Amino acid sequence: MKSDLQAWLEVLDRRVEEARDERQSQAAEIGELRAFLAQLIDILGHRGDLNEGHRRLLGKIAQHARQPRKPAVKLSVIEDKYQVEGADVDCASLIPICKARCCAFSVPVAEQDIREGDVEWDIRDPYILSRGRDGYCIYLDRDSARCGCYDKRPGVCRTYDCRSDKRVWLDFERRIPAPLRHDLIPLSWLKQ
Ligand code: SF4
Ligand code: SF4
Repeated sequence: MKSDLQAWLEVLDRRVEEARDERQSQAAEIGELRAFLAQLIDILGHRGDLNEGHRRLLGKIAQHARQPRKPAVKLSVIEDKYQVEGADVDCASLIPICKARCCAFSVPVAEQDIREGDVEWDIRDPYILSRGRDGYCIYLDRDSARCGCYDKRPGVCRTYDCRSDKRVWLDFERRIPAPLRHDLIPLSWLKQ
């Protein structure tokens, strides 16, 4: 029988492979674009449409593009998720209205989560909690809309307060939800 560690390593391997494929196809697209641009600049140069100022500007743009950039890493700054206070929102009674949409948001995990290794983050988008194809967090139970890693959920999930979030409520007091995101597939039991 596979140990948890083996299963976790297999998932990690798969994610690395996916990220590599994505990178390769992006590199091919960039190469194509670069060749196209070089040709365009060449044509403009031959037609006499580029003056010295244009050439200097193109040189600067190329120099800027070559500068190494830090990868965009999203990490929550919550140090100890077990010590934070949760918002006073009765999710159980509101979920039929809100459709648990907060569990489809981009949730950064914190260093503590990474060290614990209990929650999975998206290797293509470090360190955002993994989401499924329907747009929801992988830990959200699709039948019951319960959190499948409640005790280990990230600090952002613990502290989030939807009451004044316009992505969720047009009017929280009157329980009027905002329109659901167009790319979100509503959980089956909440469709009615
Ligand atoms: S949107 Fe608000 S009420 Fe709905 S599950 Fe999230 S926190 Fe709870
Ligand atoms: S970890 Fe739990 S509370 Fe946080 S987004 Fe996922 S299902 Fe929702």
